[in-house]
Amino acid sequence: MADTTSGASSATGQIIDGKAIAASLRAEVAGEVATLVARRGVQPGLAVVLVGDDPASHVYVRNKAQQTREVGMRSVEIRLPVSTGQTELLERIAALNADPLVHGILVQLPLPPQIDATAVIEAIAPAKDVDGFHPVNIGLLASRGAGFVPCTPLGCLLLLKSRLASLGGLRAVIVGRSNIVGKPLAQLLLREDCTVTIAHSRTRDLGDECRRADVLVAAVGRPQMIPGEWIKPGATVIDVGINRIADPQDATRTRLVGDVDFASAVKVAGAITPVPGGVGPMTIACLLRNTLTAAVNSSRSTAG
Ligand code: NAP
Repeated sequence: MADTTSGASSATGQIIDGKAIAASLRAEVAGEVATLVARRGVQPGLAVVLVGDDPASHVYVRNKAQQTREVGMRSVEIRLPVSTGQTELLERIAALNADPLVHGILVQLPLPPQIDATAVIEAIAPAKDVDGFHPVNIGLLASRGAGFVPCTPLGCLLLLKSRLASLGGLRAVIVGRSNIVGKPLAQLLLREDCTVTIAHSRTRDLGDECRRADVLVAAVGRPQMIPGEWIKPGATVIDVGINRIADPQDATRTRLVGDVDFASAVKVAGAITPVPGGVGPMTIACLLRNTLTAAVNSSRSTAG
């Protein structure tokens, strides 16, 4: 059962520190990378492909590359011009699929309009699809197999587990049904024996749905749309949203907020992730974990 001790309006829910949990996951991965290098001479390699000039994507790719190197992995960054055609991108992916030093491949989304993102994702070898977006990995997740799980939902699950000893039997409501967050997270929570509801823009009485949740996950992309009054006292709240809004204290600045109204939610929830510093840092840490798994799998198949 979720902790229900913090229902009083003056109480404050526990903050789930995604930054600290991600740092400890990265440290764990770094230790396992060192062991893999020492015992089998295999250094995990992650290739990140970026097409175009989107400034936010450049920042993400730089952060990924830096954290990849920090855990002792090899980082390959491929930056292509915005005019890159689909054929050229597919050729690059084929070369990375064939490269034994590359264990994980990630194509940064969004892609320019002349490129079909689905075709690109489907071109990545499933064994190197550390983002978990290939249909083979999506199918394995749905059928309880051992494929790669998308990084953001995996990060959400680890945050929930850091707080709750067992998820079995809990009622989980996920607001948002995207392929990258809502749907895979629903599969993960089903695996953990939660009773799962996925809500979306056509859901009726969204507040009532949320109020029944022991575990509430917001992955909507609408700033602060979930108020504290929609949260069941003591519930565990995971806020995936990353939204930039004008700073109410200073019109010349902006700040990041989640999909949950943190100020009111923290008074009702048993535990809640902040934005920033909640789910965000977990995503790259889980990418590194998946890349390590890909390298271990590949070293086993080579050895066998
Ligand atoms: P998305 O593909 O735009 O999906 C948004 C979902 O929210 C859709 O299912 C949509 O319903 C639903 N929705 C929209 N308005 C709604 C409303 N008024 N009531 C109920 N549901 C509503 O978004 P996403 O890619 O999943 O991302 C969601 C948020 O998470 C964004 O803020 C994004 O920046 C953030 N994010 C963070 C990370 C991270 O690393 N922390 C990673 C990925 C995404 P319909 O399906 O009916 O349209």
